[in-house]
Amino acid sequence: MLRYAGHDVVFQEFPDEVTLAVNLAGCPHRCPGCHSPWLRRDEGDELDEARLLALAESYRDAVTCVALMGGDADPQAVARLLTAVRERFGPRMHTGWYSGSDALPPGFRPEAFTYVKLGAWRAELGPLTSPATNQRLYRVTPRGLEDITPLMRRRPV
Ligand code: SF4
Repeated sequence: MLRYAGHDVVFQEFPDEVTLAVNLAGCPHRCPGCHSPWLRRDEGDELDEARLLALAESYRDAVTCVALMGGDADPQAVARLLTAVRERFGPRMHTGWYSGSDALPPGFRPEAFTYVKLGAWRAELGPLTSPATNQRLYRVTPRGLEDITPLMRRRPV
């Protein structure tokens, strides 16, 4: 189960996208220097398909991408919800996932995603915009995952 922890419209998490970013609580990771410790608490209402689609519907003309930020406690639910977004809005609405894991989960379903970010938070290496970052942003293509992290480094911080 995924738990809703708020949402924002953001402009820099994915290249050339205006994104409805839905934050998820219950993060199972314990990165030293965590930038969002409140997201580690297992609290908040369930983010089910109906709630996510209603939220996305209210932003459908304002965003080009719907993303789930977190959700590593239930990656199957992440894929299920983003598949529902794809089915509702079609190819014009891209989908993204910010995972704090270093690897894809077992049974990863690439067809649910336009973008996937992988990598734990390591403060000394910095975020995706940092040249030293350990994190990676991938675009899902028919040929597999394309590492587009360098596109983030050209963007203003
Ligand atoms: S993945 Fe993010 S929210 Fe989770 S522990 Fe690491 S920095 Fe904190």
